[in-house]
Amino acid sequence: MATFDVIIVGGGPAGLMAAGQASLAGANTLLLEKMDSPARKLLITGKHRCNITNTAPIEETLKEFNRDGRFLTQLFYRFYNQELRDFFESLGVPTVEQRGGRVFPTSEDARDIVQALIKWAKAAGVTVQTGTAVKELVLRDNRAAAVVTDKGTYRTRSIILATGGKAFPGTGSTGDGYALARLAGHKIHSLHPALVPLVTTGNVARSLQGLGLKNINVSVFINNKKIKQLFGELMFTHFGLSGPVILSLSGVVVKALDEGKDVEVAIDLKPALSHQVLDARLLRDIQALGRKQYSSLLEGLLPKKLIPVCCQLTGIPRDKKISQLSGSERHKLLAWLKDGFRFAISGHKGFDQAIITAGGVDTKEIDPATMESKLVKGLYFAGEILNIDANTGGFNLQAAFSTGWAAGKAAGTASDI
Ligand SMILES: Cc1cc2nc3c(=O)[nH]c(=O)nc-3n(C[C@H](O)[C@H](O)[C@H](O)COP(=O)(O)OP(=O)(O)OC[C@H]3O[C@@H](n4cnc5c(N)ncnc54)[C@H](O)[C@@H]3O)c2cc1C
Repeated sequence: MATFDVIIVGGGPAGLMAAGQASLAGANTLLLEKMDSPARKLLITGKHRCNITNTAPIEETLKEFNRDGRFLTQLFYRFYNQELRDFFESLGVPTVEQRGGRVFPTSEDARDIVQALIKWAKAAGVTVQTGTAVKELVLRDNRAAAVVTDKGTYRTRSIILATGGKAFPGTGSTGDGYALARLAGHKIHSLHPALVPLVTTGNVARSLQGLGLKNINVSVFINNKKIKQLFGELMFTHFGLSGPVILSLSGVVVKALDEGKDVEVAIDLKPALSHQVLDARLLRDIQALGRKQYSSLLEGLLPKKLIPVCCQLTGIPRDKKISQLSGSERHKLLAWLKDGFRFAISGHKGFDQAIITAGGVDTKEIDPATMESKLVKGLYFAGEILNIDANTGGFNLQAAFSTGWAAGKAAGTASDI
């Protein structure tokens, strides 16, 4: 039976980083990846541009994570955004900061990150074996002993579980690691799709498919109570709503839907203007455009595609003369522009289209310095398998790289002893 010092299960960003570090620490290292090539998900991150991290200071970044994200504090002070940027720079992949502190490879091509990472791990001495799915972990006397795959069994002293979450399963991340961790005695927090597009009732969103709205406020109402509001960008799709603001709000929505509550999303199309200021502007426009049709007034306020929807939802005909608009019609338009443009949410797109998985291996059972299990000697965790998830902005990949870095270093060194 082949024997390795360290075996990494899963060749995503966390697994590749862990494997390279373990090998550099002197361990005979095997990386097992069930797909035909590693890092399939990494290739499609950031719309194929790969938002690897964010320039926000550590304390700000931690606020972008769920509560368990605090587990990363110590680790981020050892390996954070600058260390990650320097790492890729040293591999010949310089990075650039863009809007919102998001960091991308300067080439804006995720392939550069993926290829550099695989090349680096192999050069460090890692044996990368693809097309091999890990089915079982063998533990002896509460210690890691071997992994069983569909291609045979491999003996080892250290196993790093880096199988990712359950989101976008077509990339290989089908959640296998949760069952393996549970069998090893670990607590798994319940799993939910997060950063996920929302499905709306009715045909309005579908009729606006492809339209993006920038600089808007979006509010979530749960059982008619406003719960959360965010400013940013939204996209209409054939099934409902997507885009950065919707993904960020999806956490509270998924939870409320699971609890059987009514969820509505309201769009404030003019967040920079108060009701009063917007009303004054409408009055001015009405006076200036008096003889024209109502649609001319809307042209100054809305993207073209939204005009028929506005007319339909407010019940004000587009060919009405502006001079004939009543005060109550003006108020109706005002209310619609501010937050009367609403969508009832009937569901979400699930793990198939979620960016990440919320839930996972309880961090209380893991040593935050080494990523080693407190329950099983020689068993380590890295990446999205942990009960850690963050907003968009590069935070999830930073967490995967940082935890992989620590797990690889620790497992690589421990296997010496
Ligand atoms: C469309 C999309 C865009 C994203 N964009 C960004 C972004 O720009 N910035 C950001 O920070 N985050 C982004 N994310 C999130 C980010 O990609 C993940 O958080 C990150 O990839 C997690 O890394 P990981 O190594 O833990 O797991 P994964 O990347 O999921 O890798 C796990 C690997 O393990 C393998 N595996 C699973 N089970 C087994 C098994 N039994 N045996 C062997 N191998 C196995 C899988 O095939 C996979 O290759 C995005 C996600 C998606 C879906």
